Amino acid sequence: MDQTKKQIAVIGGGIMGVALAYKLAQQGMQVDVYERGDNLGGLAGYMLYDGVRMDRFYHTILSSDTMMQSLMEESGVENKRHFTATKQGFYDNGKLYDFNTPLDFMMFPPLNLIQRFRLGLQVIYAQFESDWRKMDSVPVEKWLLKVSGRGAYNKVWKPLLRAKFDTTAESVPATYIWSRLKRMMGTRSGVTSKEMMCYLENGYYTLIEGLAQKCEALGVKFHLKAPIEEIVIENGRATGIKLAGTVLPYDAVISTLASPILGGIIPQASQSFRDLLAKQQYLGVMCPLVILKKQLVPYYVVNITDESIPFTAVVETTNLIDPQYVKDYHIVYLPKYLAPDSPIANWSDEQVKTEWMKYFHQMFPDFKDSDIAAFIVQRAKFVEPIRPMNTLNEIPTIQTPVDRLYMGNTVMIYPDLGNGESVTRFAMKVVDQLVADARNWQTEKPAPVQKVVT
Ligand SMILES: Cc1cc2nc3c(=O)[nH]c(=O)nc-3n(C[C@H](O)[C@H](O)[C@H](O)COP(=O)(O)OP(=O)(O)OC[C@H]3O[C@@H](n4cnc5c(N)ncnc54)[C@H](O)[C@@H]3O)c2cc1C
Repeated sequence: MDQTKKQIAVIGGGIMGVALAYKLAQQGMQVDVYERGDNLGGLAGYMLYDGVRMDRFYHTILSSDTMMQSLMEESGVENKRHFTATKQGFYDNGKLYDFNTPLDFMMFPPLNLIQRFRLGLQVIYAQFESDWRKMDSVPVEKWLLKVSGRGAYNKVWKPLLRAKFDTTAESVPATYIWSRLKRMMGTRSGVTSKEMMCYLENGYYTLIEGLAQKCEALGVKFHLKAPIEEIVIENGRATGIKLAGTVLPYDAVISTLASPILGGIIPQASQSFRDLLAKQQYLGVMCPLVILKKQLVPYYVVNITDESIPFTAVVETTNLIDPQYVKDYHIVYLPKYLAPDSPIANWSDEQVKTEWMKYFHQMFPDFKDSDIAAFIVQRAKFVEPIRPMNTLNEIPTIQTPVDRLYMGNTVMIYPDLGNGESVTRFAMKVVDQLVADARNWQTEKPAPVQKVVT
């Protein structure tokens, strides 16, 4: 270690942790990243099937994700990047419909003419709404009903809200749907109104791996299978981390962990700060990955309006990814976002498979079990933050109440949605703050490594 450099510990090796390490190292800091898993990536990590690397959860990067596009270029993986125009569908009452262009909107059979018009108006209306703080005290249902009306709300918005927020949909503010509409419209290119999405050969991990290599060239050290047990706090200041009973001293610590996890490893922080972290709620996700021998649908995503179907979308990523990069398999994800108290989170993989396949066959009766190569259940607990109305003052800040303990996670990204683009943009804010503060740190040397008696 170069003792003249500021020594920074980053906890968590997801996209936030890796982006932070990269930018801090560029600023001349000595960075160590600690990841509890055996790979980097976190939610954007991968799994292996038949020697093929596949995203654990479906991941796409949009052409309008400028930060992600530049990180791909800086990490030298842009030659593995492909842009594709994808299609979106809607499944209603046993039928599949195209749902892409303004014409599809206007022809969408489950809605009558007026409902279609009002739905289109809602999308346009969102583009002109710029004061998202005003929307933060308006329930999402009320905001949508005002412009879309009950018919379009029940047929389109309600199932989409259920898909994203499960049973918590009623408590979320209008800001969420506004953010989504804004992001969705960002992917439309010109008059063709086609979705422009991009993927990397071998998945999202290609970017994380490329970035990690850049980091290592700048002196960053990655520690895998390294679950941090505690952030050491002395006299109100973060002075190091505890790993396998050993205290490792640092000038500053940055946590990229979900807020409740961070709250659990800072016993020396104030009760009020730990309470604030504990009350940050997240939706989880149950997301089986079905590996098929042939194409299921021609859409990247099919939204499902039928509430009796346990999964809320069919995401066939090989309508974006060329199947030649995944041994000609066709990859389908069947996600369901879960409210914090959802009993489905406790289902066994077998139970999920039985229930999901029952409805899969109902939706696609011509599809035979022999067309399915594998059914692999992926799940995660802390995925999408839930920000109830009028709680903007409960969002944690980058510089925590503990001196030299910084944090960055998706709870703090509001009103943007949690995705690679917003996460890496937020990482830059954390870096800017830490670098500015570091100018005022005293230049004392970190204490030597001590063994803690447990
Ligand atoms: C189903 C699904 C679909 C998505 N689709 C997209 C998409 O299409 N496009 C897109 O851009 N984004 C998408 N996202 C969102 C994206 O994955 C996340 O926004 C992003 O990965 C969050 O990164 P992060 O680093 O903030 O958090 P995480 O990925 O959660 O990273 C936190 C890391 O901390 C580690 N950790 C936890 N505890 C400890 C500990 N005690 N010590 C050390 N390490 C610890 C975890 O193992 C994890 O690796 C999707 C997510 C899901 C679940």
